[in-house]
Amino acid sequence: SRAEVEPELTDGFHLVIDALKLNGLTTIYGVPGIPITDFGRMAQTEGMRVISFRHEQHAGYAASAAGFLTKKPGICLTVSAPGFLNGLTALANATTNCFPMILISGSSEREIVDLQQGDYEEMDQLAIAKPLCKAAFRILHAEDIGIGIARAIRAAVSGRPGGVYLDLPAKLFPQVMEMEAGRKSLVKVIDPAPAQIPAPSAIERALDVLKKAERPLVIFGKGAAYAQADEDIRSFVEKSGLPFLQMSMAKGLLPDTHPQSAGAARSTVLKNADVVMLVGARLNWLLSHGKGKSWGEPGSKKFIQIDIEPKEMDSNIEIVAPVVGDIGSCMSAMLGGLGDNWKKPPDDWTNTINAKKEENIGKMAGRLKKNSTPMDFHGALGALRRVIKERPDAMLVNEGANTLDLARGIIDMYQPRKRLDVGTWGVMGIGMGSAIAAAVETGKPVLAVEGDSAFGFCGMEVETICRYNLPVCVVIFNNNGIYRGTDTNPSGSSDVATTVFVQNARYDRMMEAFGGTGVNVTTPDELYSAVSEAMTSGKPTLVNAVIDPAAGTESGRIGNLNPQSTVGKK
Ligand code: ADP
Ligand code: MG
Repeated sequence: SRAEVEPELTDGFHLVIDALKLNGLTTIYGVPGIPITDFGRMAQTEGMRVISFRHEQHAGYAASAAGFLTKKPGICLTVSAPGFLNGLTALANATTNCFPMILISGSSEREIVDLQQGDYEEMDQLAIAKPLCKAAFRILHAEDIGIGIARAIRAAVSGRPGGVYLDLPAKLFPQVMEMEAGRKSLVKVIDPAPAQIPAPSAIERALDVLKKAERPLVIFGKGAAYAQADEDIRSFVEKSGLPFLQMSMAKGLLPDTHPQSAGAARSTVLKNADVVMLVGARLNWLLSHGKGKSWGEPGSKKFIQIDIEPKEMDSNIEIVAPVVGDIGSCMSAMLGGLGDNWKKPPDDWTNTINAKKEENIGKMAGRLKKNSTPMDFHGALGALRRVIKERPDAMLVNEGANTLDLARGIIDMYQPRKRLDVGTWGVMGIGMGSAIAAAVETGKPVLAVEGDSAFGFCGMEVETICRYNLPVCVVIFNNNGIYRGTDTNPSGSSDVATTVFVQNARYDRMMEAFGGTGVNVTTPDELYSAVSEAMTSGKPTLVNAVIDPAAGTESGRIGNLNPQSTVGKK
């Protein structure tokens, strides 16, 4: 028969799938459409997990969250032009956050795009993606798929991780190759994120500065969580006796309840420390750029910084001891360098911190126990805090303004990489994509604590949660609006104020529309019961938590970033 004489064939579709699988990339987050609809089907046929979303931005956020959780690039798959642009927001966000991700997008015919002759969804996607990500590549020939995907993987995870764009024109997919030649063209990337060993002299310099400190402080950022060097980090902290802070997505690297955690005395330690060691945390706006009144007297501190990116050093202020390398290698070298006669920090300093912690924790306790109606943020978060305390291995997703700022402080985390949130940009809309990735990648129950405004950016993905029957419990802190639900239109017209939503909306009914469980709650006790039940059952659930519309503050904790007008004030 003909089959016996003709060589077996493969094509672009299958080579892309085989190249991803060969590199252990077996989950795709995307939205189907021309020209990648069949690709998605074939990927599913070939045993990949293909999670189809309702909008590309959320597929992209899911891919970037997967990258953060697994240290492998999360894969997002989009259609050309508009779908690509929707995914691009997430790719730029991933790059900003140092999360490895690959946005694979189908694109239109090069010949027509380059002559601008008006193709279906015509756009020069590669050129547009390039400034918004770490690297961008296009593959034109089937025989280059292996090397193209290898390049994309390496670019995403090596050095400082980030987003990579991979452009696959429609014509690539049906290109045919002989099976055997195709197989040989694939590349299994060896050591995609090579260790970067710090110079011994840099470690010595850093330890020297630490040793002379009277009021030392370590700050862990999400780079430290990403590095998966949990054991060395814990040993270093405990052997050195240093007090520490954890940035939002680093929370749980060590339990927030650890005796050396200075989380509840944050302002005190930032202001008074004399030596600060940053580990996978940048001195960007989230740390007031290392200066200003939250950091005490100007020039009163020395900074040590451990980071994989050499250019990060001195980006905002002087770093007296830069340590460049991967956090695993750096922390193991720092731990080794502590030696046997390491002196723990002076009692004065640790006693000051502990006194402040006790005072602040005491002040907060009463507010968290309040079982009032309507709920305020503290009462509601007190209930969710208990849920996570009882389920320390659950995943927590968190976004909003007040809902974010207060939950970050109130909900203690106990294990590394359990918290996903708005990250470096403080972007709204990451919630449902992150929750879906958290469920898919970890298999653990997920609690997504969402402001009603933040949820609006991604709410349609509750259908995706129901469709894949994911163990996600979404809690909407519903205060009828952005920041608050009480603003009135200053012009007196009949339009509602710009920051106000439909009053008393029932988001729980959205979940019911897709077969999930919807619950409306008005007290912290009801909230606790509904969420506990959802986390135990693993059924897709949405809890509409009615919060006092007057409870929020403008822009949460970052109201100072709002520019103020000095004219026209009446
Ligand atoms: P946070 O917002 O939690 O303070 P940032 O995103 O500002 O954290 O900082 C993370 C830092 O971690 C980045 O500067 C990045 O270069 C660094 N980083 C990421 N992964 C690693 C790694 N494996 N080793 C060393 N540094 C890393
Ligand atoms: Mg709100």
